[in-house]
Amino acid sequence: QEHKAAKSKEGGSYDIALLDTEKGIVTRFPPEPSGYLHIGHAKAALLNDYFAHEKYQGTLLCRFDDTNPSKEKEEFQDAIVEDLGLMGIKPDRTSYTSDYFEELYQYCVKMLKEGKAYADDTEQQTMRDERMDGIASRRRDATVEENIAHFEAMKAGSKEGVKWCIRAKISVDNPNKAMRDPVIYRCNPTSHHRTGDKWKIYPTYDFCCPIVDSMEGVTHALRTLEYRDRNPQYEWMLEALNLRKVHIWDFARMNFMRTLLSKRKLTKFVDQGIVWGWDDPRFPTIRGIRRRGMTVEALREFILKQGPSRNVVNLDWTLFWATNKRYIDPVAPRHTAILNENAVTATVKGARVAAYTENKPKHGKNPDIGTKKVAYSPSILIAQVDAQGFSEDEEITLMNWGNAFVRNISYSLNPLKRTVTGLELELHLQGDVKKTKQKITWLSIEGQELIPVELVDFDYLITKDKLEENDNVDDFLTKETEFRSSAMGDCNVAELRADDIIQFERLGYFRVDRSFQHGKPAVLFNIPTGKAGK
Ligand code: ATP
Ligand code: MG
Ligand code: MG
Repeated sequence: QEHKAAKSKEGGSYDIALLDTEKGIVTRFPPEPSGYLHIGHAKAALLNDYFAHEKYQGTLLCRFDDTNPSKEKEEFQDAIVEDLGLMGIKPDRTSYTSDYFEELYQYCVKMLKEGKAYADDTEQQTMRDERMDGIASRRRDATVEENIAHFEAMKAGSKEGVKWCIRAKISVDNPNKAMRDPVIYRCNPTSHHRTGDKWKIYPTYDFCCPIVDSMEGVTHALRTLEYRDRNPQYEWMLEALNLRKVHIWDFARMNFMRTLLSKRKLTKFVDQGIVWGWDDPRFPTIRGIRRRGMTVEALREFILKQGPSRNVVNLDWTLFWATNKRYIDPVAPRHTAILNENAVTATVKGARVAAYTENKPKHGKNPDIGTKKVAYSPSILIAQVDAQGFSEDEEITLMNWGNAFVRNISYSLNPLKRTVTGLELELHLQGDVKKTKQKITWLSIEGQELIPVELVDFDYLITKDKLEENDNVDDFLTKETEFRSSAMGDCNVAELRADDIIQFERLGYFRVDRSFQHGKPAVLFNIPTGKAGK
């Protein structure tokens, strides 16, 4: 429910034309189960959900567009259902285009019999050229009997059948090329993940989408703008078959800088091992961005806030992560980690010799988050970068403890790279924490078990802001996209579980990808906050 509240404060406002006679609207999300959902699909899914469930009291359908057995798999279908659930989207009904293969076949036969479609075996490139040039296929005027015979051969998946396809007989030279006799059925003897070997013919999206929309009672078909040229074709199919009309509502595709949003291209990344899998934190899949630390509430808010604008924009990830930060900052527990590289051991004069612990709030501004243990002793760890900034006798603040003077800094002998190798601190607890320049994090070496952690940051996979359709992706791959550093975390880090989102003070926000177990370091992914370069 939080996401609704957030959205009505921030959200864009959308509307679609409703007829007086329409009681409830019916929308549908039609994914092809040929990959995992990405953030572009999330926009389509969330908009359909918004109209069906938030703006109006309607019905949301999820229909798997499973008409290409060469690309589709059950694994993808299950993942899509799960990912919709993760986004808080609950379709009222789930169906499959393959549920309608019999009806679609009958509709195609009807079109053939009424002379509204014909069988064609024109070679692919020639067909493309003829369509470009507005030239009629030599098969365009075949008789109904011939066409039906070819369709039956296709249906049987025979050697002859696979050479043919069925085309709607709309126009040879309509200025809108989408109207130039589009293909509506293909022969493909590949086994289908739901219908097995029953069918050797598969309807194209152009054919089955309007028909099944109409049959399932869809009132409003939301389509991305690239389909605009195909809208008249969608309407033609319904008219040709005398089926109930459906309103089409266009919306803009969502694109992101330095990001591929195409299942086909993402599949290549997975297959080539450029990423760990579909849930890689560098991937724009729902799983990937969740693994990177995006919250569902922020995702919904960000997408619905884009508004109904029809401009296709190339969005910047920084905006997206800035939205997320507003959701995680008030609730992320705060912990301490000190980077291992040249970490400095400091002696604290004036500290009680026997180590002890105190309970401190996990979040300074939100007592609901609970408390954590902070250990104190005369021996503490501080980060090299902090020690580098100290000058002799300066007063600094040890966060969660108090002020101290810096004494006796010792440096390594290498004059080119002056590393701090040790120092002393003299507690000055009556000092004013508001007056110090340096407020540093630290960890007591005694009185607690320090937990090894691995901190991972990532870069974009792609070097170019906006890839063009004919750019070769391989020319724009970022060489190094994964950056690891090891650190020690406070004792409370041992209790963190996978998926927890926390803040390591002064280092940033992190999502726990693997918890600390069997002595193996906890692995945490840095969550971008929308600051420049992140
Ligand atoms: P892809 O090229 O990534 O495979 P697609 O459109 O072929 O995308 P589908 O599974 O057919 O994938 O898409 C399901 C729905 O998601 C469609 O309504 C489609 O228009 C929409 N969609 C896909 N990509 C985007 C995007 N970048 N922005 C908005 N909507 C999108
Ligand atoms: Mg598609
Ligand atoms: Mg596609």
